[in-house]
Amino acid sequence: LIKEPPERGRWLAPRLVKAMQATLERREQSLLFLNRRGYAPLTLCRTCGHRFQCPNCTAWMVEHRLTRRLACHHCGHAEPTPRVCPECKGEDTLVACGPGVERIADEVTALFPEAKTAVVTSDTIWSPAKAAEFVGRMEAGDIDIVVGTQLVTKGYHFPNLTLVGVVDADLGLDGGDLRAAERTFQQIRQVSGRAGRGEKPGHVFIQTHSPGAQVMQALITGDADAFYAAETDARKDAGAPPFGRYAAIVVSSEDQSCAHDTAKLVGRSAPEVEGMHVYGPAPAPLAMLRGRHRYRLLVHARRALDVQDVIRDWLGKLEWPSKVRVTVDVDPYNFL
Ligand SMILES: [Zn+2]
Ligand SMILES: [Zn+2]
Repeated sequence: LIKEPPERGRWLAPRLVKAMQATLERREQSLLFLNRRGYAPLTLCRTCGHRFQCPNCTAWMVEHRLTRRLACHHCGHAEPTPRVCPECKGEDTLVACGPGVERIADEVTALFPEAKTAVVTSDTIWSPAKAAEFVGRMEAGDIDIVVGTQLVTKGYHFPNLTLVGVVDADLGLDGGDLRAAERTFQQIRQVSGRAGRGEKPGHVFIQTHSPGAQVMQALITGDADAFYAAETDARKDAGAPPFGRYAAIVVSSEDQSCAHDTAKLVGRSAPEVEGMHVYGPAPAPLAMLRGRHRYRLLVHARRALDVQDVIRDWLGKLEWPSKVRVTVDVDPYNFL
């Protein structure tokens, strides 16, 4: 994406588009993978800058054009997409920022109006019958180009599918995910495995802004052992799992000051244990979720320490109002 960026307002780089064209001409099938449902992950007003946020969560509302709704992917809150900005009352001033699968499908239709395109996400394939219908259409050659989320990475076998394009390989690498590189590696390997499963050879295109990253290099060379060895070293240095342990203590309540007070109490009463450090409390990255305010403490401990035991002892001595919830997650996958 650095050397050959897509055209303005588009997300598919010229080289990938050319490969899709060639695949179409050979009457073979292509798959575009983007792990993001909906049309666009953020909607804003170009006049006043208003952004649509979920009323219950610290999260942007995702536009779903198929259903003409803005939806929160954390709590399920949804509302019709408005035509008028709620802030400045401007008409038709709302713009979609960034791509989701629906938007990629639109781009594909604009590029290849003749091609038969299918979108595969939990929004379109919500039952085994729908999945069977999709598989049937693929096998019958009734679909030329599939645009899908991780739903398409699982187990399908389409011999005529010979091209896979990963629209945004960097997507999984940011965010609060500790095992981001590992997850990205596995996910892209899995989706890449969809290409060329029959007699015909397959091709995989990975769009990224960091082609030098270790995970991208490992994907190109296919050297899983080297990737895991490097990842293991990095974690050893950082004291990350499995060499050290992290725990997240999340204090949440609909009452913000209650949550904050309890979080401070938990922080103040942290035991002094050798080999264990407590950070926080601080507002959690998802500071509000399903209408609850959230504060978070992070615990980092040596491997040998039974951190679960320590935390149980620590929290067991404390009391907090019944409207406050305290949850502990040891070695969490993400810290949101
Ligand atoms: Zn506005
Ligand atoms: Zn929400």
